[in-house]
Amino acid sequence: MCGIVGYTGRDQAAPILLDGLSRLEYRGYDSAGLAVRDGSAPAEVVKALGKLYHLADKTDQGRALPGACGIGHTRWATHGDPSMVNAHPHVSGNCSGSGSGPVESDVVGVHNGIIENFTELKEKLLRHGYTFYSDTDTEVAVKLVDYYYKKYKIGPVDAITRTMVRVRGSYALALMFRDFPDEIFVARKDSLS
Ligand code: GLU
Repeated sequence: MCGIVGYTGRDQAAPILLDGLSRLEYRGYDSAGLAVRDGSAPAEVVKALGKLYHLADKTDQGRALPGACGIGHTRWATHGDPSMVNAHPHVSGNCSGSGSGPVESDVVGVHNGIIENFTELKEKLLRHGYTFYSDTDTEVAVKLVDYYYKKYKIGPVDAITRTMVRVRGSYALALMFRDFPDEIFVARKDSLS
């Protein structure tokens, strides 16, 4: 069991997110990551393998990551090895290298739990031209949200709702959309956050 945290407000998000993740360390995890955005600028993703202090070191305890809106995650791998590329957050577009850096995608998100029908959903997305950079079920969920968001030109809540209709399993999701600065969208089914 791993953890999700989110913050949007007036303060710098990253130190608060790191503090939140530290409170969930007892659940166990193999990697951790943050996505933080500064106003309407693209989100910045930072990931680290192993203990949370590696992520804290990489971001100068969060101080090096500007922005007052963000999500954080500790991962317990179920789909794909513990690795930088499989660590969360995941993005709806392509990602270069290990996935750290500015997010060019429309949707970025983190996820706890298991998407049971991820193979079938991945095949659907492949048929619609999506490509995949990780082995995770999470990337499939984020891309499915993106698919509905663009196909029906609906808002984040409706895109997430459509996704939840298709997804089987127990999970929690926290997502940020490029078009919606300062907002975090969450969904949960039979899972702790
Ligand atoms: N199934 C996801 C993965 O393997 C999330 C695992 C978790 O709950 O941390 O990345």
